Amino acid sequence: MFESRNPFTQELYYSFSPLSAKELEIKLSKADLAFRFWQNIAIEKRIALVSYLSTKLLQNKEKYAQLITQEMGKIIREARAEIEKCAWLCEYYAQNAENFLANEIVQTGAYKSYISYEPLGIVLGIMPWNFPFWQVFRFAIPTLLAGNVVLLKHAPNVPMCSIELEKLFREAGFEEGVFQNLMIETDLVEKVIAFPTVRAITLTGSERSGKSVAMLAGKYLKKTILELGGSDAFIVLEDADIEFAAQNACTARMINNGQSCIAAKRFIVAKPIFQKFLESLVEKFKNLRHSSPRQENADYSCLARVDLAENLSRQLQQSLKIGNKLIHGKVENLDTFFTPSIVEVWNYDTPVWQEELFGPVAAVAWANDEKTAIQLANMTSYGLGASIWTKDLERAENLCKQLEAGSVYVNSIVKSMPQLPFGGVKNSGYGRELSVAGIREFTNIKSILIE
Ligand code: NAP
Repeated sequence: MFESRNPFTQELYYSFSPLSAKELEIKLSKADLAFRFWQNIAIEKRIALVSYLSTKLLQNKEKYAQLITQEMGKIIREARAEIEKCAWLCEYYAQNAENFLANEIVQTGAYKSYISYEPLGIVLGIMPWNFPFWQVFRFAIPTLLAGNVVLLKHAPNVPMCSIELEKLFREAGFEEGVFQNLMIETDLVEKVIAFPTVRAITLTGSERSGKSVAMLAGKYLKKTILELGGSDAFIVLEDADIEFAAQNACTARMINNGQSCIAAKRFIVAKPIFQKFLESLVEKFKNLRHSSPRQENADYSCLARVDLAENLSRQLQQSLKIGNKLIHGKVENLDTFFTPSIVEVWNYDTPVWQEELFGPVAAVAWANDEKTAIQLANMTSYGLGASIWTKDLERAENLCKQLEAGSVYVNSIVKSMPQLPFGGVKNSGYGRELSVAGIREFTNIKSILIE
């Protein structure tokens, strides 16, 4: 069953039965039919639909934001911002898609030669619950504009969001079959991947599910993009503005109740300023306001599911057993509630340093010098994002190159934005979303040469 349950109150609102194999086949055939006409319609028409989608999103912002908050516990201010960001993405691609997909003349000495960006077919998006609208828009908008059609397999704890998403696309004028929600259980995913005109799969989620889906895709030789977990380092050099860095550290750790792939999770601070930074961070954590996610002034609320809070407790407990120190917060959770916590790390061979902390726990360590700071930052199997905090911009730029990550930001929290490619290295996945790179991932980059 797919359950829409309020994680703050545990109230169950709706439950849905998953699609049967027969119902899935009907949806796959619809997608197949839809691709035949969608790939041939003028790009201007696709762009007009995406622009209208953006208008509809903003018109119904409150409705969608309340739904997100109700279903996965995001605080309401952030839920509204998520909808606004989806609209921004639509506008960005509406303005740029035609350029990004235009033929590119290449001089080869032939009469004419160029690169043409053509659609692939049906693209399956397997999505997580943590940004239930944004993650879907981030893959679906460029994919659709490039002439592909989309199937969405959303996380089972956000079924109402997935239903509303399909409705929204239909109401904005996208024809039947162009964007379809598949409420299917994991064992039917193979059937979708095996379907001949499903040409690619994009998965945003954990390393574990990324590996499973990549293996299946390999079996059927389908392209994959994987946007997986992260354990971003937040490096504070000795010349940084400590107060500014600590304020941003708190914001970066607490976004989405700590449940963001690019939340800063490991804080590496130059030894001379370590104590001051830590004190300031503890102060900020103490001042966070806890409340229902619907409250306008809440800074944090609850995690999206009980098992997520339990896992965080396990990670913290195991890490404290082997010599690390709890500076603030507590180890236990009550249902979905988890007190924002700070742990000082001495032993790096520990869950808080080696695993992804998907909730409000900050792992803080000091470094004697720049080289050690970089080593500590790269001491993880993940490689999604990292940030550096310093007044010396030249030094920071040199350090950017040494960090094993898909994005490095200096004096700014790592955040995704439509203009810049987004994705990871190492076990954070491969491929890129957003920007020109994102829209071309699901195209046939065709070479045409005429003599
Ligand atoms: P998850 O458990 O991996 O689930 C993500 C999606 O994958 C869900 O729809 C899930 O559905 C599906 N899934 C899981 N195993 C599968 C399998 N074997 N075959 C097919 N589908 C499968 O992740 P989550 O808990 O929802 O999200 C949190 C994770 O996502 C974190 O690691 C976070 O860092 C990562 N994330 C990464 C990014 C990024 O851009 N890099 C962004 C957001 C989140 P079922 O549960 O029904 O199987």
